[in-house]
Amino acid sequence: MNDNANPLLDFSGLPRFDRIRAEHVAPAVDALLRNAREAIQRVDDDAHPASWANVVVPTETAFDHLDRAWGVVQHLNAVVSAPAIRDAYNAALPKVTAFYADIAQDRRWFARFRALAEGPGFAQLDDARRKVVDNALRDFRLGGAELDDRDRERFKEVQEALASLSAKFDDNVLDSENAWAHYVDDRQALRGVPADVIAQMRDEAESDGRAGYKLTLRSPCYVPVMQYADDRSLRATMHRASATRASDLGGSPSFDNSDVILRILALRHEEARLLGYRNYAELSLEPKMAQTPSEVLAFLRDLAHRARPFATREYDDLKAFARDALGIDDMAAWDLAYVSEKLKAHRFAYSEQDLKQYFPEDRVLAGLFRVVETIYGVEVRPSVAPTWHPTVRFFEIVDAKGALVGQFYLDLYAREGKQSGAWMDDAINRRYVHDRLQHPVAYLTCNFSRPVNGAQPYFTHREVITLFHEFGHGLHQLLTRVDVAAVSGLQGVEWDAVELPSQFMENYCWQWDVLSHMTAHRETGAPLPRQLFERMLAARNFGTGLAMLRQAEFALFDMRVHIDYIPGGRESTSGEGPSRAASSAPAGSSAAAEPQAWGDANDLQAILDDVRREVAVVPKPPYDRFIHAFDHVFAGGYAAGYYSYQWAQVLSADAFSLFEEVGVLSPEIGARFRDEVLARGGSRPALESFVAFRGRPPSLDALLRHNGMVAS
Ligand SMILES: [Zn+2]
Repeated sequence: MNDNANPLLDFSGLPRFDRIRAEHVAPAVDALLRNAREAIQRVDDDAHPASWANVVVPTETAFDHLDRAWGVVQHLNAVVSAPAIRDAYNAALPKVTAFYADIAQDRRWFARFRALAEGPGFAQLDDARRKVVDNALRDFRLGGAELDDRDRERFKEVQEALASLSAKFDDNVLDSENAWAHYVDDRQALRGVPADVIAQMRDEAESDGRAGYKLTLRSPCYVPVMQYADDRSLRATMHRASATRASDLGGSPSFDNSDVILRILALRHEEARLLGYRNYAELSLEPKMAQTPSEVLAFLRDLAHRARPFATREYDDLKAFARDALGIDDMAAWDLAYVSEKLKAHRFAYSEQDLKQYFPEDRVLAGLFRVVETIYGVEVRPSVAPTWHPTVRFFEIVDAKGALVGQFYLDLYAREGKQSGAWMDDAINRRYVHDRLQHPVAYLTCNFSRPVNGAQPYFTHREVITLFHEFGHGLHQLLTRVDVAAVSGLQGVEWDAVELPSQFMENYCWQWDVLSHMTAHRETGAPLPRQLFERMLAARNFGTGLAMLRQAEFALFDMRVHIDYIPGGRESTSGEGPSRAASSAPAGSSAAAEPQAWGDANDLQAILDDVRREVAVVPKPPYDRFIHAFDHVFAGGYAAGYYSYQWAQVLSADAFSLFEEVGVLSPEIGARFRDEVLARGGSRPALESFVAFRGRPPSLDALLRHNGMVAS
């Protein structure tokens, strides 16, 4: 097959979704990896003094093409995962992963970047280009390129061992979840549970060839049972099963994550020590906006301290309501969601279902575009492009003069073979190719219910918030003005600042000015009544104190465990020298990825107990083993980074507060937010962008006010 015949290798415009097939993946990926390797080789071999033109430019197009084509394959695998495309994706994945791990340690390429940074031309580069070089040097360093041969070998082993332990952690959680089921014969035992959930349980029992109802720990079953089941002992059974998943108290010892957790922590500690950091928390923060672990700890402690009085009051209210209205004298962990739900319905007298009748899809989209058009002075209009499914739509954003700014795909509905959840991904990054501008393109993906019988769908308010959130990420990608792909849009933006533009957009879902224009009742066509809006607002802050404290507890544990937990046990915690695990592991031996010793589980529990003493209001039952299923931290990308959610919330709330001061739809403030935050992408530190917009460093006040936590 020659390159012209492979549509994955056609980079003349938008992806050729009308022609791309699974059999195009392997030859395209091979060709693009070869191409990228050759481009790096040419840079490595170049004997001229290092310059932007001979170090960065020669690889730009090769990497852009690899990103774009591989992005298409990843996207198809996520949204139309037929066996053929999944196989093609899985076959190519190890090659792509190995390529990126290898180039992070390419010392000749690293040397060329260093020469560029130290050379006379560096100071003449613009901010974005200097940032690209700085980021590259940092990533080489964090990829192990500076280590000597022995340590570099060990570093790679540690990384590989960590990858497989993380996968093992996830497998254990999933397997222990799948291994557990509870069968109920009598429908009376399910009193209070919504009918559609019961129908699902009936269905699950039938697939197992049994009568009655099957209850599982998966969220579509677990969550409604905990919220609505009147049978207290049923809730207690479910709670215990969920809280002991993948632990020593779980159903099966083979799914116990106790050792996996200790080994992951030991290897992370070793990885950090190899790179010269005191602990993994320091390493994790290196590419983030937060500067030091103590800054993050202080932030979380402050937040917890402020939320605590509200959480205490909420908890007391729940206990009183449980006693007086529900006859529960000793409210326990398994009653919390149930009592909350009952108190909320009692206080605010409306349901999510009532609200849903007001949000037809066409009005919601028009309302979203109206916000964006008003504050950013752009226009969103329908356009056409080849897509992967007939229900996918395509739009373009143009500026006031009608010039193209960017384009996006909108894939709203759930369907078989499409990964659940909602997300934004980049399809094409903005950059200049010679003198021609390459416009940015984004994928916006949701999983809302699809139209039935040609009638348009209605969204829950939660779904409307999700759509605004993802569109916020999309605007970050599309309204960028950066000319180099490596720091345009979301590229190179600090992990703990990425959620700023998305959470910012959520605020518009709570504005009367916005909602009154984007609602129409299914039967009457009337907009949302002001009185119902007021009740929504009143209910918005129900339980936020407890929720904020719970997030702070998770985040503090995550941070503390990556600072204070020292593999090798307590005796080494006082020493400043490298830990035993880091200094004496034999390189190259078959058991090399196994650290010699790791701290014991008691140390881990001691840290958790300490965090709970400090912040928690709700007592936990002694069987609670939540860390054994804490996959964000042990399997996801949030290790010593779980605080990012609350960190970015401070930024988004504080950014929105300037709009509240001047006008939530102010074009003047909108232009400033676009110029100083959205347009800048990763071309300068997120803090600088924020200060340039807000005129001062971020403040906690707006977040507290939005959550009803102002002293009154
Ligand atoms: Zn997000």
